[in-house]
Amino acid sequence: MIRCYVALGSNLGNPAVTVDEAIDALAALRGSILRAMSSLYRTAPVGISEKLRHQPDFINAVVVLDTRLSPHQLLDELFAVEAQFGRQRSVRNAPRTLDLDLLLYGDLVVDDQRLTLPHPRMHQRAFVLAPLAEIAPGLVIPGHGPVETLLEECRDQRIHALNRHA
Ligand code: AMP
Repeated sequence: MIRCYVALGSNLGNPAVTVDEAIDALAALRGSILRAMSSLYRTAPVGISEKLRHQPDFINAVVVLDTRLSPHQLLDELFAVEAQFGRQRSVRNAPRTLDLDLLLYGDLVVDDQRLTLPHPRMHQRAFVLAPLAEIAPGLVIPGHGPVETLLEECRDQRIHALNRHA
């Protein structure tokens, strides 16, 4: 099996519930085993255009999956889970019910029409790096370096872990 990392994000409806339910859906994926999940994090939207800046905060998390699926099969499964949660693909960075990103598939480096690995923006995003560092301390992102070093470089991004029992 290949060790993969998948990022989840939601900022519509009840995003914490959506992310919890989406983690359950990932745990049920064919040919795959859910090994770990991070805390949920509340994060301000980043890279958002002027028009979209006033959208709600996101809830984010990262999970570890071991899978027998190929990278493209796994991407298709992630799209199916997004569709199940009713994501509207309108403009880039628009509010979304559920966004799933394949961050890493083992140490595979790919860049084709459908898939870029490692995920092309993961190394600049605290909302990916903080949950990733929580569940995979010391992980090295191929081409970019250790997750903790990358997280240190985006410390200006507002993010905090939710106390799930509050
Ligand atoms: P977005 O709307 O930002 O979630 O981008 C989705 C698009 O990015 C889809 O067309 C995917 O085929 C493409 N894509 C490329 N690499 C990845 C990746 N590692 N994880 C998820 N989507 C990816």
